[in-house]
Amino acid sequence: MTDVIRNIDVLVVGAGPAGIAAVARLGPGNVSVLWIDQRNKPGGAIHRRPANPATSIALPNSVKAQWERLEVLITNSPVTLTPQTTFVGLDSEGVAVLEDRISGASLQVAARVIIFAIGAVERVLPRPGWTLPNVWTAGGMQVMLKETGEAPKGRILVAGNGPLTVALGAQLAAAGNAPIAVVEAANPTAKLLQGLRLLSNPRLLIEARYYLNTLSRHNVPWKRGTRIVSIERGEDGLHVRTTSARGDETFIVDHVALHDGIRPNSFGLFERKSAPLIIRAGDCREALGAVTAEVDGARAADEALAHLRGEKPSPTPARIDAERRAQLVLKELFRMACMPTLEDLPDDTVLCRCENGTVGTLKAMLARNPGMSPREVKLNGRFGMGSCQGRFCADNVAALLGQVQGGDVAIEASQLTGTRWPIRPVQISSLIRDGNDAGTTQPKTRTK
Ligand SMILES: Cc1cc2nc3c(=O)[nH]c(=O)nc-3n(C[C@H](O)[C@H](O)[C@H](O)COP(=O)(O)OP(=O)(O)OC[C@H]3O[C@@H](n4cnc5c(N)ncnc54)[C@H](O)[C@@H]3O)c2cc1C
Repeated sequence: MTDVIRNIDVLVVGAGPAGIAAVARLGPGNVSVLWIDQRNKPGGAIHRRPANPATSIALPNSVKAQWERLEVLITNSPVTLTPQTTFVGLDSEGVAVLEDRISGASLQVAARVIIFAIGAVERVLPRPGWTLPNVWTAGGMQVMLKETGEAPKGRILVAGNGPLTVALGAQLAAAGNAPIAVVEAANPTAKLLQGLRLLSNPRLLIEARYYLNTLSRHNVPWKRGTRIVSIERGEDGLHVRTTSARGDETFIVDHVALHDGIRPNSFGLFERKSAPLIIRAGDCREALGAVTAEVDGARAADEALAHLRGEKPSPTPARIDAERRAQLVLKELFRMACMPTLEDLPDDTVLCRCENGTVGTLKAMLARNPGMSPREVKLNGRFGMGSCQGRFCADNVAALLGQVQGGDVAIEASQLTGTRWPIRPVQISSLIRDGNDAGTTQPKTRTK
């Protein structure tokens, strides 16, 4: 491995709105900053840049305006991004281990503060058929759309729960391949009184109107109060069976995009009592959306600067509380009246895609040994032991375990996975290769 890089005051991980705002705030201060992102360009999830700059996708004006603002911050910042560099973990001494994605070598950085601005991850609940080919996550389909400007060819159904399904449906329509429907499990428009509380945050209402108008212009039905029962492969495509108070309906399509909300990307992040000071910013602290992420990035930088100067951090900006209230309203609007439980799923429904563990496998293990601990479930059933290390399945395995065991206290995904590094799969060779090997990009820091 390389020598440890020690002259860093603040390591900022992530170049979405939170990371960009944090670096912009740290830039003029008298501190050395190393700024990394696993991707090749800044922008994060919402402002993912297209491979060809001439392509664009349908976005509300508020989103475009944010990117223009962030681009100015990037241009004016004295700190440059070290791209294609992934944070993989913190060792017991508090030294950060990074992987250079081009050369595959690892780098070690001892920073006084680490700001994690690593965003949110998408939730997709298990359903019969959710692992079939051409069943995507909505986020994955949106990434393809953002990078290429092109929608997948063929008939598309967007389904699940949460505002992203509407955004994706509208973006596919504007890109020339409107989905045959957007299926939403909740019924947000039935909760008019709660919806009126969004008047205090007109930006969210304007964005919603933009996407809903686009769906309406392309005659895409928004089927609220409707949920997927199963997806099966037929001769003529994927058969998606849905149910609602109006009855059952089957859609025959070539692609299904599933989405069930987002949650902070806190997987495997450590709480530390000793140095370095760990600060989370943006959606990885609390998934409150891109505008709040920008405000929170600046807050995180202020906290880092206060720590370095031995001062007390300033209070959380009031704007974050206001956005939290608006997001809680959105959450309430998209809450399902009757939430189906994982326990009701057929036994052959896949829970863990990496190891092919099913609902039936877990139930059979618990029938033999009802008191199994989350860790025993992992070790005996191989749940969360595949290449995603529980990143996608641990929440659902923990929820089903809680439902079957019927305890009073919710079981956390971290009880199954534990917290340890590397936080994502990394090649053994990258841990043992010397970062000074030919081809390794040395990170660019702004030093004092
Ligand atoms: C799938 C998905 C789709 C979304 N679509 C929309 C939408 O259509 N409209 C909308 O308003 N909001 C959308 N959001 C929410 C929006 O993206 C976020 O609110 C906003 O981007 C949060 O900004 P952030 O800076 O906290 O994180 P992000 O913008 O997610 O930025 C995080 C950055 O961290 C980097 N990163 C992550 N892990 C590592 C690591 N280990 N090492 C190095 N770098 C790392 C990532 O590459 C990324 O650039 C979506 C979120 C998701 C997850």
